[in-house]
Amino acid sequence: MPFANTRADALARLAQFLPSAGRAYAATRNRDTGPGPRTNVSALSPAIRRRLISEEEVAQAAFRAHGMDAAEKYIQEVCWRSYWRGHLELRPGLWRRYLADVERLESRLANDRGLATGHAQALSANTDIDCFDFWVEELKSTGYLHNHARMNFASIWIFTLKLPWQLGAAFFYRHLLDACPASNSLSWRWVAGLQTVGKTYLASAERIRSVSGGRFAVRHPLAEFAEPVPPEPVVSPVPLRALPPANPSAPSGLWLHTEDLSPETSSWPVPVRAIAAVDAIGGDPAGPKADHANAALADAVQRAEQHFDAPCVRLPEAAMEDGLAAWATDAGLTQILTPYAATGPVADRIAATRNALAAHGIALVEIRRPWDSRAWPHAARGFFQFKGHIPDLVNPGLFG
Ligand SMILES: Cc1cc2nc3c(=O)[nH]c(=O)nc-3n(C[C@H](O)[C@H](O)[C@H](O)COP(=O)(O)OP(=O)(O)OC[C@H]3O[C@@H](n4cnc5c(N)ncnc54)[C@H](O)[C@@H]3O)c2cc1C
Repeated sequence: MPFANTRADALARLAQFLPSAGRAYAATRNRDTGPGPRTNVSALSPAIRRRLISEEEVAQAAFRAHGMDAAEKYIQEVCWRSYWRGHLELRPGLWRRYLADVERLESRLANDRGLATGHAQALSANTDIDCFDFWVEELKSTGYLHNHARMNFASIWIFTLKLPWQLGAAFFYRHLLDACPASNSLSWRWVAGLQTVGKTYLASAERIRSVSGGRFAVRHPLAEFAEPVPPEPVVSPVPLRALPPANPSAPSGLWLHTEDLSPETSSWPVPVRAIAAVDAIGGDPAGPKADHANAALADAVQRAEQHFDAPCVRLPEAAMEDGLAAWATDAGLTQILTPYAATGPVADRIAATRNALAAHGIALVEIRRPWDSRAWPHAARGFFQFKGHIPDLVNPGLFG
């Protein structure tokens, strides 16, 4: 099924799904009906990931349509993303470790024949596990898997195929249209038993048959015991990063990036007189993921031009830092505003760019959405603690 890659499509999909976001969602959300139109889940994750539409908009719409009781499950799922993002934001060390592990394991693939063979068989859908091989192809061709498919895929990868979870997460990250540094890496850690220490997720053939409506026979034996992945040193939470305020009198431009593509719904502290965006998503995304992100970016550029009544300059991704400095200088800007990016590759790029721009006397100021600033501090511990803050997050003041 096509996934919304413009804000208009995302809003239309939300409106279409809203009637099902109440008790019907709670009762049927676990069913994985396979590729093709899905009616029991919203399939909004690619749009939410790029913030063509925000968690706040989606959660509030569900609340307005059904009330907190009936929409509780859907709102909670939407808030899992806010929770994971906050959790990683407060523990950037987990992201650094994941990146280092992927690098180490990818170089091990060159020398460890057993690992390389198992890895290649999994990635080429050659494991003889019917559901797993199907999901590999589904992921590659559509860029999406149902939540249960993701859970079972990760469990089979770790406990049956005995492959390192980090390589599975990297495979997901390359292909998922909704690839989110936090939701992806932390969900894999959760399945492996690293996130809630000692609590693993073990896939069962019977459950896979049941949630897939009998689409899979699952004759190949699956692991019967989830041997926990060896524990890692604990990463303690750090405080939420304080952001320097924007200079209200500095001539300012907006740098648009794929972490937040609805600039017209943010509040900008200074008038925006020029806009810049990169020409393509960075990293090593698979084709469908790159296409989705680039279409979403093109849509945001159009909306931003209209909203701010200013032209948008597209900069080459490879030389973005120099391009931004030259653009700002030409446009007479001394300040660039940009949406805050949670821990991940874009945040790393923003940090590097801030230093490069400072050398030219240009300030780069990140603007964090109030939803993130309110939600993330509650994500230091488990989701159970976070959950208690959801009603107030969705409707500040009403439940407080
Ligand atoms: C191993 C693994 C990896 C995952 N990687 C990602 C990822 O990279 N990006 C991502 O957005 N989700 C990820 N998820 C969570 C979840 O599978 C997807 O968000 C969900 O399947 C998207 O489908 P949907 O939009 O129809 O969800 P719906 O059921 O309609 O839920 C609505 C929205 O809530 C959010 N959401 C729902 N469940 C979760 C969850 N468990 N964690 C975080 N957010 C959630 C999504 O934004 C989703 O669009 C992962 C889950 C697992 C088990």
